[in-house]
Amino acid sequence: MEEKHDYRKELFYEQKNGYDRLSAEEAGKVQDYCEGYKAYLDSARTEREAVNEAIAIAEREGFAEYCPGMELKAGDRVWFSNRGKSLMLAVIGKKSAAEGVVIAAAHVDSPRLDLKQLPLYEDSELAYFKTHYYGGIKKYQWTAIPLELHGVVVKKDGEVVDVVIGRDREDPQLVVSDLLPHLAADQMKKSLAEAIPGENLNILIGSMPYDDEGDNRVKLAVMGILNSRYGITEEDFISAELYAVPGFDVRDIGLDRSMIGGYGHDDRVCAYAELRAILDVAEPERTCVCILADKEETGSDGVSGMKSQAFEWFMGELCAAQGVKLTDCFAHSMCVSADVTAAFDPSWPEVSEKRNAAKLNYGVGLNKFTGARGKSGTSDAPAELVAYMRRILDESGVQWQMCELGKVDQGGGGTVAMYMANRNIDTIDAGVPVLSMHAPFEIVSKYDCYMTYRTMLAAYSAK
Ligand code: MN
Ligand code: MN
Repeated sequence: MEEKHDYRKELFYEQKNGYDRLSAEEAGKVQDYCEGYKAYLDSARTEREAVNEAIAIAEREGFAEYCPGMELKAGDRVWFSNRGKSLMLAVIGKKSAAEGVVIAAAHVDSPRLDLKQLPLYEDSELAYFKTHYYGGIKKYQWTAIPLELHGVVVKKDGEVVDVVIGRDREDPQLVVSDLLPHLAADQMKKSLAEAIPGENLNILIGSMPYDDEGDNRVKLAVMGILNSRYGITEEDFISAELYAVPGFDVRDIGLDRSMIGGYGHDDRVCAYAELRAILDVAEPERTCVCILADKEETGSDGVSGMKSQAFEWFMGELCAAQGVKLTDCFAHSMCVSADVTAAFDPSWPEVSEKRNAAKLNYGVGLNKFTGARGKSGTSDAPAELVAYMRRILDESGVQWQMCELGKVDQGGGGTVAMYMANRNIDTIDAGVPVLSMHAPFEIVSKYDCYMTYRTMLAAYSAK
């Protein structure tokens, strides 16, 4: 009798839920990895904290600070901090940089409320900070939730004062108030975009007056507290970077604890994945480079953003150490732009096209392109590079899914991918699918976090 072919199995592409292929041994690794990530996320609420924490972890694993002109040989592990706001790490490979390097680029800035440069005021015997939001937020989500204040104040003499208010359980937190529904008749008629004007995102910071008969008594009292805690005066806010961020702890989500909720998964979840991967890569063939960039949420501009020549400078140093031209190195390099993607949300199916949407627990999400409308604002990874990723991920047993961010005409988004590709570096987007992206409390699946780490490790380890 003629043998019957299973044509469906032969010809169709089918995806599986990650839990249907997860071994007990690997399930343990998922848990261990995610505990490390949760600790990182809890202590990295700003780009500066994410950089500092990454340096501390890297130094524990044998990385040394890169100093210009340093001699570098295969196996050397170095980090370089760009102004404390972005970080580049490298593990020198056996092959020359002329044969190209493997780059993973994530960002460590997240949407938040920045304090204005003259933030402090008193109104109706209450003290406030004025804010200017950073990145794409739905403003209504930032009212009536606990907030913490993180950042730096740089005094006129250059002294840098680190500020953290509200992270410690004993510390007070801050808040932006919202209207009660009883008196919100007019507000409720407005669109979500207009219901909370940006200038209403004022942070309540005090109500107790200073004991004298002058004016601005509440403002004076809170300034006095800040002065005794940090030695600063009102004028010092002018040279400060202070961010109000959600005051939530990172927590397991779901009765089955299969997900993680927290502020700033976008994009510290991918930053941690590539950081962990570059720490774990053993004697790579090609030099591995890990970038934690700043300013992605505002377009990657500025000295610490991915468009900055700081990247050329660092890569130029690595190349010069081997007598290699930077442009030759770029021409043969590849980059995984490690950024989160939108997970399909069954409560909002109308914004996604189900066949091409990332699903929770289906592994790392590869995006061939991002952008909006007719793919504008994207680098669109070459098919050859997509095929290469399929090959190395399948060979390493990494679960991945190809996806697109939402329906064609629904909106869109971007990453640092195009800024890397514009440098003549083959680049593809890969990252963790997220629910409630850019909300103060975002959700990711533990399985996908781990698969994203394994994706970065596979890219770094490839021959
Ligand atoms: Mn992102
Ligand atoms: Mn984002």
